[in-house]
Amino acid sequence: MKIEIAKTAGFCMGVRRAVELALDAPGRHAAPIYTYGPLIHNPQVLALFAEKGITVLNAIPERGSGTVLIRAHGVPPEDKQRLKDAGFRVVDATCPRVIRVQTIIRVHARKGFATIIVGDRDHPEVVGLVGYAGDSAVVVSSMAELDALPAFDKAIIVAQTTQNMRFYDQVKAWAAATFPHYKTFDTICDSTEKRQAEVKQLADRVDSVIVVGGRQSGNTQRLAQIAAESGKPAYHVETEAELDACCLDHLGRVGITAGASTPNWIIKRVYRELERLPARKQAGVVRLFFRLIQTSLLTNVYVAVGAGCLCFACTRLLGIAPAGAPAAVAMLYVLSMHLLNHLTGMAEDQYNDPERARFYERYRFLLSLLAIAAGGFGIISASAMGGVAFAMLLVMSLLGLSYNLNLIPERFGMRVRRLKDIPGSKTILIAAAWGVVAALLPGITSKGTFTLSVIVVFAWATALVFARTAFFDLLDVQGDRIMGKETLPILLGDRRTFVLLKGILVGCMVLSAVLAAVGLVSGLGFLLSLCPAAMLMLIGAYEKGHMLPGMRLEFLVESLFLLSGAITLLWMAATAP
Ligand code: SF4
Repeated sequence: MKIEIAKTAGFCMGVRRAVELALDAPGRHAAPIYTYGPLIHNPQVLALFAEKGITVLNAIPERGSGTVLIRAHGVPPEDKQRLKDAGFRVVDATCPRVIRVQTIIRVHARKGFATIIVGDRDHPEVVGLVGYAGDSAVVVSSMAELDALPAFDKAIIVAQTTQNMRFYDQVKAWAAATFPHYKTFDTICDSTEKRQAEVKQLADRVDSVIVVGGRQSGNTQRLAQIAAESGKPAYHVETEAELDACCLDHLGRVGITAGASTPNWIIKRVYRELERLPARKQAGVVRLFFRLIQTSLLTNVYVAVGAGCLCFACTRLLGIAPAGAPAAVAMLYVLSMHLLNHLTGMAEDQYNDPERARFYERYRFLLSLLAIAAGGFGIISASAMGGVAFAMLLVMSLLGLSYNLNLIPERFGMRVRRLKDIPGSKTILIAAAWGVVAALLPGITSKGTFTLSVIVVFAWATALVFARTAFFDLLDVQGDRIMGKETLPILLGDRRTFVLLKGILVGCMVLSAVLAAVGLVSGLGFLLSLCPAAMLMLIGAYEKGHMLPGMRLEFLVESLFLLSGAITLLWMAATAP
């Protein structure tokens, strides 16, 4: 099954901003935290807010305390003032595009213009807009209502940001023909416009369209309506649990779109579920292969083999004779630490990768045993490489184990009490740990000291793993934010993280080739430039929407380290005397 996710699926700019402001509010603003009305029309996100202690304030009390978030739709100015007067601190999460419409109305109302708002009278955004117009506002939702309006000396026409474009075009044509002195403003949000246009194009390319989002969400309902009008089977689901396998598993191409209030982690879950459907029907080898890949990814065995391959490549870059011990140490250490990471990070996986969370919940005991055994055998194997390797791996294992532990007692009142609390630490520590076991350990134990070549190969391996880990962080950014984690993409923002990753990967490509050219590492350095190049291609494909977050993408990214091993083997075969 080929699955396509609409580029416009999920949170629009305004909703994303409002959700991020809400998630960041606990700890930043005075408690209790409220949203004035439901922040968005998505039951899963609202349930999540409730879990985090962010509750809904439906009416303004006479007295109150804490913080109130104004939602993306905005509110009438008098409501904002009443909240302040009641004693709340107000955080305004009104979408900047709604603020623009409010400003147009306010400015013109002061100049005596009547305001004609095209929209749903009861919609919170329209209620807010009316508040900015004072007594001069009328709301219309049909051509009949427009025709029934009295003539105004001067008037403006604006639309609710999520209005139907075709209808608003009719309104504008009506105004131009009947009251050419009325000023009309294009206030429909292009996010809605693009989303609606894209679902039509998507429906042309696929056999069926899945629309993901809350049933109460107006813009999601409209998407489902447009998808249904295309004539292709269209399904509106809130979560992956509502997917009907019987209707979908035989289809060749399925498109997914989602409303502006649907979080990425729900879209990802739907995608992952769809990705699995055809394999369930397959028999024999294909099904077995799928299960094998899935299990090796879930148990981190595939990742560990990748670490072994990277170690193999690094030893050959350094001109060290291939030996089993360094690769085994790298594999066992990475297996142990990644298992522990997932065993202690199940809460985050609930959002980012629920299937993995279920797997770890189900096999917690066995996976814990595997983690301990891999860690123990890793240290024993390191002792075979000498005292230095043994001591280094022991220290690194202790660091890994203490990652989630409170190292500073609570009474000191410090925000950073665990290694995990250091912003961006996960990405950097994972990359450095891989770099140590793949390059530093074998390099130092073989050469007896830190040589320049050992340091640069360590830097090369660390940078490559950093790019891989930060890319996965980018895919998990919403789930991580929900859990309050401060990963690199959360700190830097998506765009800057992409730029950083590309810069690092280009640096890796150039570095290994230059090091080989100047003779600091073996000629293998030229060929290993292919690994960062392949990673760059994967990131590019993801950015263009050709690759989607799921098992396939994870498998391909992790395969880059196996690629380094395969390239090394070929190079050894080609250069063997
Ligand atoms: S749909 Fe547009 S106007 Fe409405 S919240 Fe999203 S970005 Fe803002």
